[in-house]
Amino acid sequence: MEFERFESRVWLSSPTMHEDEQFFVKNAFDTNWVSTIGENLDQLEKGIGEYVGCKEVVALGAGTEAIHLAVKLAGVGRGDKVMCSDVTFAATVNPVSYENGEQIFIDSERDTWNMDPVALEKAFSMYPDTKAVIVANLYGTPAKLDEIKEICEKYHAVLIEDAAESLGATFRGKQTGTFGKYNIISFNGNKIITCSGGGALLTDDKEGADKARFWATQAKESFPWYQHKEIGYNYRMSNIVAGIGRGQLIHLDEHKKRKKDIYMRYKEGLKNLPISMNPYLIDTEPNFWLSCLLIDREVSEGKSVEWKRVTPDMIREKLEEYNVESRPIWKPMHMQPVYEDRKFVTAEEGEDVGADLFARGLCLPSDIKMTEDTQDVVIEMIKSCFGLVI
Ligand SMILES: *Cc1c(COP(=O)(O)O)cnc(C)c1O
Repeated sequence: MEFERFESRVWLSSPTMHEDEQFFVKNAFDTNWVSTIGENLDQLEKGIGEYVGCKEVVALGAGTEAIHLAVKLAGVGRGDKVMCSDVTFAATVNPVSYENGEQIFIDSERDTWNMDPVALEKAFSMYPDTKAVIVANLYGTPAKLDEIKEICEKYHAVLIEDAAESLGATFRGKQTGTFGKYNIISFNGNKIITCSGGGALLTDDKEGADKARFWATQAKESFPWYQHKEIGYNYRMSNIVAGIGRGQLIHLDEHKKRKKDIYMRYKEGLKNLPISMNPYLIDTEPNFWLSCLLIDREVSEGKSVEWKRVTPDMIREKLEEYNVESRPIWKPMHMQPVYEDRKFVTAEEGEDVGADLFARGLCLPSDIKMTEDTQDVVIEMIKSCFGLVI
């Protein structure tokens, strides 16, 4: 079958706007609350708090800023060890370096592709003085959050949950972004809902939230003149940006449903291929932010008798030819040149689950504006890479 190049690009995940965003943004203009205070900010923080089920929400300029403040709240300073998810976006772990801490990367498990509690426990037996743990929920799939939380409690380490990709996902009925002492979400343009850019710190710790607000507004002490006892940051979100988020929040459940439909359609459409989809635990409900495939090892290594060799790059290049975006699995942090001096702990000696996922996995276009017809064509394109033609 001959495919035609798509005229407009099929995206991995791009912003999906409705009418409500413009209503709230216009409202900010009409009332002249265009800076870093206003009703949109208050309502966005309130709305997120109610949706997720946490007491304090601090809207910020980016999810990365929220992680930075969470790392500071955890008391991480020079030379402090922080155990981090290995297969994640760099923003999960970079803020540890902002505070001169030292990341220890924890390998993934195969049930959710997230931080392996077995490797985490092992890492604590090696480095019991670790200050904090940062766990990310990759592609919207909750990690083994209860086990990870328990291990952190056992070793008195502060848990920070990076729910940037997983807003709306639940672990045994409880929303992600509530398992850590400090948690973060992101409103970056590619996430399940967006503010154009932005993020938030989520916590039940009122004192911590107040401290984060203080740091985020240049650490201004309450004096008539500008008085500073600490280094601050300019991390607050604008009320205009918050208006976009306020409008988007109305549509979060709808976005979630469409993401799930996309995942299920891939699962069904690709079921006869030597691949599996990004897995999740039965008692969790991901938000299905990104659908991913993992090619069976023998096939990706060219050792299958039944199938020809197919690699993620071959599929990615084929899709690109037709203007369809896909992306390799996030390259593990322990494989990044910038972190080559950091420690990496795996459950089994000589094992490296992260490297294996990176070698065999691919993120598929999961944009909720993609029509069923378009997705069907993408599925056929993937099948054709494996030599299946309709
Ligand atoms: C997007 C993302 C971030 C960073 O969020 P920003 O709002 O872009 O700063 C952090 N962690 C993960 C896992 C992400 O995917």
